[in-house]
Amino acid sequence: MKLLEERIRRDGQVLDGNVLKVDNFLNHQVDPDLMFAMGEEFAQLFRGEGITKVLTVESSGIAPALLTGLQLHVPVIFARKHKSLTLVNDLYTATVYSYTKKVSNEISISKKFLGADDKVLIIDDFLANGQAVAGLIEVCEQAHAEIKGVGIAIEKTFQRGHELIKEKNIRLESLAQIAAFENGHVVFVGDKES
Ligand code: 5GP
Repeated sequence: MKLLEERIRRDGQVLDGNVLKVDNFLNHQVDPDLMFAMGEEFAQLFRGEGITKVLTVESSGIAPALLTGLQLHVPVIFARKHKSLTLVNDLYTATVYSYTKKVSNEISISKKFLGADDKVLIIDDFLANGQAVAGLIEVCEQAHAEIKGVGIAIEKTFQRGHELIKEKNIRLESLAQIAAFENGHVVFVGDKES
């Protein structure tokens, strides 16, 4: 998606440890117009799949997931990373190791929002080693829900996540695919050929 690639080139900052900082438009300050365009793109890609729920994990997945749900006219569920007083019983849970924060979180969703009749589209902001998506896949499996695909805003193709999803035979669509970081610059898949 050209619009997202251009925005990453303009506002993304490459940090140590293969981390891209995008707090200008996605991870802290959020650009609603860009989120809307991303939602349209995901919806177009997955419209034929009969999606009944969009699933993400708080907090940075919520914006793109919500705008996708808006286009598909289906509810959006975000898995929570912290147990709340009102979220205690009847939960599907999975443990997720955070790439950027280097800590493990238990993510949970209420059983009442996901079931065997659901066809799920998983959305997240980044795909690195695939732990966040693996946790979301795990809660879908616990609910016996059908996973129709994974939509990622920014994929770092040189990390393990891509492989992990493909091994499970799940459709993966990423709006921007990063091939490498070179001297503090982002190289997208496709840059080298052009
Ligand atoms: P994974 O579970 O695939 O290893 O990492 C996915 C999660 O880690 C994403 O939900 C995102 O929050 C965070 N993450 C991974 N890589 C990056 C990165 O390069 N930049 C930012 N801002 N977040 C990242």
